[in-house]
Amino acid sequence: MSQMEEDKVACLPRLSRVAVCGGTHGNELSGVYLVRELLKAKKKVMEEKEPVLMVLSNPRAMQQCSRYIDTDLNRCFTQATLNGPTSDLAPYEIIRSRQLNVMLGPKGSPEAVDLICDLHNTTANMGLCFITYSDSDWICLHIFRHLQRQMPDVPMRYINFDISHKESYSLDSVGKHGFAMEIGPQPHGVVRSNIYRVMKDAVLHMLDWVHFFNSGTIFEGGFVDVFTVVRHIDYPRERETRNIIAAIHPQLQDRDFCLLHPGDALFQTFSGETLSYNGNEPLYPFFVNECAYYEKGIALYLARKRHVMIPVIRVQTEKEQQINKEGFESEEE
Ligand SMILES: [Zn+2]
Repeated sequence: MSQMEEDKVACLPRLSRVAVCGGTHGNELSGVYLVRELLKAKKKVMEEKEPVLMVLSNPRAMQQCSRYIDTDLNRCFTQATLNGPTSDLAPYEIIRSRQLNVMLGPKGSPEAVDLICDLHNTTANMGLCFITYSDSDWICLHIFRHLQRQMPDVPMRYINFDISHKESYSLDSVGKHGFAMEIGPQPHGVVRSNIYRVMKDAVLHMLDWVHFFNSGTIFEGGFVDVFTVVRHIDYPRERETRNIIAAIHPQLQDRDFCLLHPGDALFQTFSGETLSYNGNEPLYPFFVNECAYYEKGIALYLARKRHVMIPVIRVQTEKEQQINKEGFESEEE
């Protein structure tokens, strides 16, 4: 590698502590059963590699096979919620989010785990998606590209919720790096072996990548398609009762990530009328008819696709890590 090429390499700290979480939503069963399985197989699978923290995030919701007990756990990880006043009467998920923040964080601190992969399922026909809050987290983007290469038959997309002006509230935001791995279609409360298998392979490939990275492998740069969320659309509803009056149109159902053009069919009312997409640009729909989003007032999300350049990366040498740690002191001298 020439000096000029060497200059473009992003040198990132070692990923010493990695966590894989399942059951953040208690009825998304691939992650629940995968974490249980990895806990059993832990010694065999990972003894010679990095230690991995396996976490069942919402045990009470898992027990009841429901998304949550009192409130959506995956919306609780803001500084305000994590550090607010404590009370025995607090919703279960608020209490649980604080326990997880102790275990995996504290969020935003140097003690936080280096990488969190939080496992989810969707009822939408989305294949495997990374859900992230940054389009410049080179670790997550490189892991994604590694999975694309290792599992070429699995449709895979990288989704970025741009929250530049807000704080992320998901469990994976507690780690220094993190993403949700969302796989579907699978009904909630059901485990399908094909979906489970994809999740298991993806997690094992991710752990391999972390091991390669920590061992000093240099990963070449390149491009990744990133789907940046533009907005969401709710179901058409009756003004007074708020009951929905239409379902996703058959021409859109199961067609996540197929470009939706202005004028294309969006909903079919229960009386049989077609309602069209009236946006002014073609966008990519996803989370189409996700079961858990009826209560959130979301029938689908729409995203724009962008080509994002990712740099060559490698792990920092011990000397570089030391210099980084001492950075402040030496600058002052
Ligand atoms: Zn979920």
